[in-house]
Amino acid sequence: MVTKEKVAPQKLPREAYQALENIVGKEWVSEDRGIIEAYVIACIDVGTAIRALHRDPSLRAAAVVLPASTEEVQRIVKLANRYGFPIQPYSNSQVASSCLAPGTVIVSMRRMDKIEVDEENLRMTVQPFINYMRIHHEAAKRGLWLGGSGWHGAIAKPCSQYTTYGLWQSDLKYLGLSRNCVGMKVVRPDGTLLRLGSTAIAGTGEVPFTERFPGPNLMGMMKQSAGSRGIITELTLKLHPWVGGYPFPEDRGRPSLEHYFEEAKEKKFDRPPIFPRHKIFWFEYPDLKSMEKAILRLARSGVGIALNGSGEYNAMMCSYTIDEANERSKGYFHIMGYIVVAGISSERQVSYEEKVVRNIVEETGGKLLSPEYKPELLDAQSNWNAEFVLNTETGMRTVRSNYMGTTLPPCAPFYQITDASEYWEDLVRDVGKIGEERGEYFSTMPIECPYIYVVDRGHQLTTETDMFPERDNLDEVRHMFRALVYAWYRYMVDNKYGQSIGPDVGEPLTSVSPEVGSERYKMLRRLKNTIDPGGIFAPRRMEYTEEQFKALSQNPTPLLKIILEVREQLGMPKLELTKEGDGWQPVE
Ligand SMILES: Cc1cc2nc3c(=O)[nH]c(=O)nc-3n(C[C@H](O)[C@H](O)[C@H](O)COP(=O)(O)OP(=O)(O)OC[C@H]3O[C@@H](n4cnc5c(N)ncnc54)[C@H](O)[C@@H]3O)c2cc1C
Repeated sequence: MVTKEKVAPQKLPREAYQALENIVGKEWVSEDRGIIEAYVIACIDVGTAIRALHRDPSLRAAAVVLPASTEEVQRIVKLANRYGFPIQPYSNSQVASSCLAPGTVIVSMRRMDKIEVDEENLRMTVQPFINYMRIHHEAAKRGLWLGGSGWHGAIAKPCSQYTTYGLWQSDLKYLGLSRNCVGMKVVRPDGTLLRLGSTAIAGTGEVPFTERFPGPNLMGMMKQSAGSRGIITELTLKLHPWVGGYPFPEDRGRPSLEHYFEEAKEKKFDRPPIFPRHKIFWFEYPDLKSMEKAILRLARSGVGIALNGSGEYNAMMCSYTIDEANERSKGYFHIMGYIVVAGISSERQVSYEEKVVRNIVEETGGKLLSPEYKPELLDAQSNWNAEFVLNTETGMRTVRSNYMGTTLPPCAPFYQITDASEYWEDLVRDVGKIGEERGEYFSTMPIECPYIYVVDRGHQLTTETDMFPERDNLDEVRHMFRALVYAWYRYMVDNKYGQSIGPDVGEPLTSVSPEVGSERYKMLRRLKNTIDPGGIFAPRRMEYTEEQFKALSQNPTPLLKIILEVREQLGMPKLELTKEGDGWQPVE
C-alpha cells in the first residue's frame, strides 16, 4: 500500500508489548517514534528506497526489540506466533532488512555480539552482531585467518550475510561462506531451535566441525532467505593458517584510535607495509578479452589466494574525494586487476608463485605495474593493498555516491567477463545511465571493465555491475530498478546464466520469471508455507503467498509494470495467468 498521507506506525496490542518487555527487560524494547524512524533505512536496497519515497507505512515497525540470547529470540518468536505480529530480523541494515508488513516487530541482533575461537580445531563461532573486523582481528591474533573478505564494509556480519550473498572478492582459494561455514543455530518461525552441522548429532560436542549430518543439508534452506526462513543466532566458521603477522590494527594499516590524527595526516593507514610472506601484483591488459584469458589461467594455475579484475572500480576504491573518484571513473585505471600470493606452506612458496604469475602475465600480453612501469598508477592504487583485499575491503569507499549493485550472476563461466561489459553497454544505451546529468560517471565504469570476483580456484566467477542513483530522487531509483531488471533478464535471455544473486531480486521478480525454472517460485512458496505457515518472518520478501500473488496480479504495482515492460523490450515471452490464477506462465 502506498500513501502520501502522514505516516503513523501501527502499534502492538499493550499485552504483546508488555510481554516483549518481560522477555528482554524494559530498556531493550521500544516503540518510540525516534527509534522507529532510525530503523527505516537501507543501504543498497532499491525496493526499500522506492517504498520510502512513496511513504509506504509498512516500512515503520511497530516496535524494536533487542534480545541478548538465543533463548530470548526463541521466546520473542513464540510470542509473535501467539499475537500474530510479523518479525523482521535486523542487523546493520545494509540490504533487505526493511519491514514489509504493517505491525512488524524488528528483532535487532545488536546485543548478540559474542565470539568464541576454537584454536585447536580451527573454528570460530560467532553471534549475529559479530562483524568481519572483529573476526579478522581475533583470528590474526592467533595466527589464523577466515580465508577472505568481501567488498562489504567492515561492519557487515556473516550471520546476516549467510542469508544474502556470502561471496567474497578474495574467494579464490578458500571460497566464501558457502564453504567456510560448518554449522549454525537457527531459531525457526515457530520458535523452536534447529542445530545444523555436526552438532545436530548427539554426542559430537558443542562446536560443529563439519557441515555434514544425517539427511539433507538444511543449511541451504537459509541461503538467500534474507531473514524469511529462520533467525541465525550462531554461526561456526572454519579458520585457516595466517602467515602474515601484524595482529594490531595500527600495524596493519587500519586507523587506531590512539594514533588516528597523526596517521590521518600522513595517510599512513592507506599505505601499510606488505605483510610478511605475502605479495600483491597488479596487472594491466590492452583489452578485456585478453584479461579474461589471463584471469582464467591465473585462477586455474593453483597459485594465489585472491584474484580480482577491478578496472575503473579502482577510481571509487582508491580516491580520496568524490570529485577525484568521479574524474578518474571517466577512464584512468582502465583494464586491470590483481592477484595476492601467500607463502602458506613456506617462504619459498612466494617466490615460486611469483614466477608463475609473471610467466602467465607475460604470455597473455599483460604488464605488471612496477616502479619502472606506470609507477603513478601503482601509487594511485596503493590504498587497495593486501590488508584491504584480504581482511576487510571497506564499503566506506564503495558507497560513495549512492552505489547500488545491480547484477551478480554467480557460478558463471569465464566468458561472462566480456558478456558483462557488452550487456552493460547495451543497458546504458537502452535504459540510460544514472548520474550523468549530475556530472557523475560512475554508472559507466563497468563498460570498460566490470568488477570481477574469481571464486573457487577459477571454477566459477562473478561479475558485478552497478548504478549510482540518488536515493531521494524517485526518478533515479525507479530508473535503477529498471536497470536491475534489464541487466538481470539480459543475462538470462541468451539462456547463459540462470539467475543473479541478491535478495533485492526477491518479489515481485521471483514470480514473474518462469525462465528461472517454471515451478521455482511455487516451490519457494510451498517451502515458506511449510516452514512458516503463519507468515511470521519477513513476509512478502522472497516469495508471495498465493493470496498475495493473486492480489498483485489483479492490481499490478508500478514495479510489476516495469518488469513486464522490460520483458517486452528484451523480446521475452509474454506471460499469462495460470488457470488457477496463482502464477504466470509463458504464452505458448
Ligand atoms: C557496499 C556494500 C558492499 C557489499 N559487498 C558484499 C560482498 O562483497 N559480499 C557479500 O557477500 N555481501 C556484500 N554486501 C552485502 C552485505 O555485506 C550483506 O548483506 C550483509 O549481510 C550486511 O550485513 P548487515 O549486518 O548490515 O545485515 P542487514 O542488512 O541488517 O541484513 C541482511 C539480511 O539478513 C537478514 N538477517 C539479519 N540478521 C539475521 C540473522 N541473524 N538471521 C537471519 N537473517 C538475518 C535481514 O533480515 C536481511 O534480510 C555488500 C553490501 C554493501 C552495502
